[in-house]
Amino acid sequence: MAFDSKTRAAGTCTQCGSVFAVRRSDGGAVEPIGVRRCSCGGSSFDVLESEPADPCAASD
Ligand SMILES: [Zn+2]
Repeated sequence: MAFDSKTRAAGTCTQCGSVFAVRRSDGGAVEPIGVRRCSCGGSSFDVLESEPADPCAASD
């Protein structure tokens, strides 16, 4: 499980709203993929698409 593509999501810069591919770290932090920060200098991102971490966990 070196690089799980399921952790990828679309995210936006919280400062300018630019859209990036982001991933969630184990600690829950949102990190942009391929870049360190936004071109505006922002380094905080919000996730646009949230996927269930584990579909099997939602046993109803
Ligand atoms: Zn930005």
